[in-house]
Parts: sequence; structure tokens; C-alpha cells
Amino acid sequence: MNIQPKEVKKKKVCPVSSKCGGCQWINRSYDEQLQAKSTIFRKLMEPYCRPEHMIGMDTPTHYRNKVHAAFGEDRRHNAISGIYEQKSHRIVPVDSCLIENQKADEIIVSIRGLLKSFKIRPYDEDRGYGLLRHVLIRIGHVTGQIMVVLVLSSPIMPSKNNFIKALRKLHPEITTIVVNVNERDTSMILGEKEQVIYGKGYIEDELCGKTFRISPKSFYQVNPVQTEKLYAKAMEYAALTGQETVLDAYCGTGTIGMIASDHAAQVIGVELNRDAVRDAVNNAKRNQITNIQFYQNDAGKFLLEMAEQGKKLDVLFMDPPRSGSSEEFLNAVTRIKPKRIVYISCNPETLVRDLKYLVKKGYRAEKCVAVDMFPFTDSIEAVCLLGN
Ligand code: SAH
Repeated sequence: MNIQPKEVKKKKVCPVSSKCGGCQWINRSYDEQLQAKSTIFRKLMEPYCRPEHMIGMDTPTHYRNKVHAAFGEDRRHNAISGIYEQKSHRIVPVDSCLIENQKADEIIVSIRGLLKSFKIRPYDEDRGYGLLRHVLIRIGHVTGQIMVVLVLSSPIMPSKNNFIKALRKLHPEITTIVVNVNERDTSMILGEKEQVIYGKGYIEDELCGKTFRISPKSFYQVNPVQTEKLYAKAMEYAALTGQETVLDAYCGTGTIGMIASDHAAQVIGVELNRDAVRDAVNNAKRNQITNIQFYQNDAGKFLLEMAEQGKKLDVLFMDPPRSGSSEEFLNAVTRIKPKRIVYISCNPETLVRDLKYLVKKGYRAEKCVAVDMFPFTDSIEAVCLLGN
């Protein structure tokens, strides 16, 4: 779909965009956005590699399968739900959003509509009373499973069962409902305690033919359509033959490593976050993958140990956070010398910084491409293949 500049001028694409600030490029047509991202990426990569044609999204709207709404009250004590105004804790009422899953937005509006008859008051941050703080919805793109997380200020929810019944009547497509308790004065949405009040407490989704379990707190890419394209490109660059030992560094819940496992002899995943590693182990079992092992560790320390033990590595996938990789990690890479490195990056500036290091040590950037994972925002995701 293309939202042309003319249309943009005729009618505002989003009435709250200036307050929200989430979509920095809301006023550009999708073609313009892709062109601008391609230009930024090409300039950054200029010293190393000429990018392939950028992979855009066919329908660049309503792509977020994880949707959050903050709840509060207006001056007349009516329940409102929406987003926080930029750099503040004021709630801007929003019923539908250009980039959020539409079903998720509908469910949030329904929940707001039910509150009064169930005498559930939204939480008031300043005065510290009221119950419902946030609603988080996660949707399985392929499976259609839907999880609703009600974030409450206290573990006691009055007329819980009737509320579940009423919500399920409006939205029978909901497959699980979880109460999360956040009693603290914090900007974190989710608290520690959780109670499953309907269904299994998690949803499943499929990505590149594998099934992944998504719990309220699991990391899972928010744009599944583009994630499949990103991972397909990563697999193409890796050119696995079935003989290789592969490392998936910064593996999160193990998605990339598991997708690679069908085409490799052995896969190792390393990730710092304990919960993500637990999900990764479960996901591997769920998909009956036996040639993969996950380790909870700092990726740099882990790779250094591998280097010191003289371990061999054929292909390295690395998908670090926005801050990029560490010198310790990159240094260990140059000691182990994998034949190919597939670097997946959500921040091309740190990608280029890390490339500079690797190129100095004898690697060549052979191919690269940007994938638009976040239309209407200024974020750029990219994959780069390095060989030695
Ligand atoms: N590859 C995954 C997740 C990428 S997000 C996917 O595509 O779904 C980056 C991941 O790096 C996060 O899960 C984060 O917890 C992890 N991480 C951050 N710093 C790390 C470090 N020093 N060592 C290992 N993992 C780290």
C-alpha cells in the first residue's frame, strides 16, 4: 500500500502523531520513507559494501503484533486508554493506531468499555488508587492466537470470572488472559507476579516453519511479516550446507539458530537474558531440534572461552542490541576466524563501527541489505555478510 504525499496533505494520517512521537516519518509516503532509509544505509555502508535493493513491506500498516495501552481517567473520571505523551506520563487517548494490529486495538477499546459495569477503575498514578494500569496484547500472526495481559495495581480483581466471560463474549478469538501485578511506582509496564486466569498463559506463533512460544515477557520481533524476510536473507547469506558448526550470538529466544539448525551440523546459541534462554530451550524441544544447545552468558566472554579452548566455528550469526557488539567479542571473532559472519543489526551506525574493526582484521563485507521492520519510524534494520 502506498500513502501518497497528496493524500497525506488532504487528511492527517494520525491525529496524535506529534504527541506520541512513535512514528517519526508519519508525514512521508511509504516510497519516500524507503528511499530515505536506503540513502542513509547506502551512505553509511559506502566504505565497505554496496547494498542490495532495500526490502520494504507490501502493506506497511498495522504490523505491530504486540500492542500496549496505558489506562487512566480523564477529569470527569471516565476511563481513558492510549499512549503516553512523549517524555511524560500524561495519557493521550488513542482508539486505533496506524502501525498497531487492528484486532488488538479493538480488544483494548472493548476492555475500556467493560470497566464501568464491573466497577473496575483505572489506576491513578498520582494518587495511587484504582486497579487497571495497562493492557498488553500479543497476537500470533500465523496461528491467530491472542493473549491479553491485564496489568493491575493489586492481585485482587473483583468479579474476575464474569469479566473474563464478558470479554470472551465480545472477543471469542482471545485464547489466553493473564493478570500481571505491578504494585510499584515504576515506568516498567510489567511487574514480577503473574496469574493465568484463562487459557495457557502463552501463545504460539510460527516463523520460517518453526513454532515459538511467546509468554507475556518474552522477546519476539514485533513485525513478523518482515522478520521472515530478514531471517530468509540471513539464511541465504549463511549458505549452509549441513556440515557447519554455527554460533547464534545474542540469540534471544533462539529463533535464528533454530531456523539454521535444519541446514547445519551443530548450532550453539548464547544469550545473556535468563528468561530468553529458558524460552529458547523450550522452543527447541517444541520443534524437536536435537542439534542445538543454548548457553546463558555474555557473548564476548563465551566466544573468548571458545577461542581459548581452540574450538572451531564455521558460521557466526550475530544479532546484538542497538549498542552493537563489544571489543572483547569482536577480538574473539578474529581469533576463531569463522569463514562467514552474518551480522544482523537494528542500528546501522554500530554495525558500521563493528565492521570497521572486522575489516581491519582481514574480513570483507561481501553483501548487505536493509529490511524495513518498522515502517513510519526512522529505524533501520540490516543484514551484512562478511567473509575472510
Ligand atoms: N536474535 C534474537 C534477539 C536479538 S535482540 C531475535 O532475533 O529474536 C538482542 C539480544 O541480545 C537480546 O535478547 C539481549 O538480551 C541480548 N544481549 C544483550 N547483551 C548481550 C551480551 N552482552 N551477551 C549476550 N547477549 C546479549
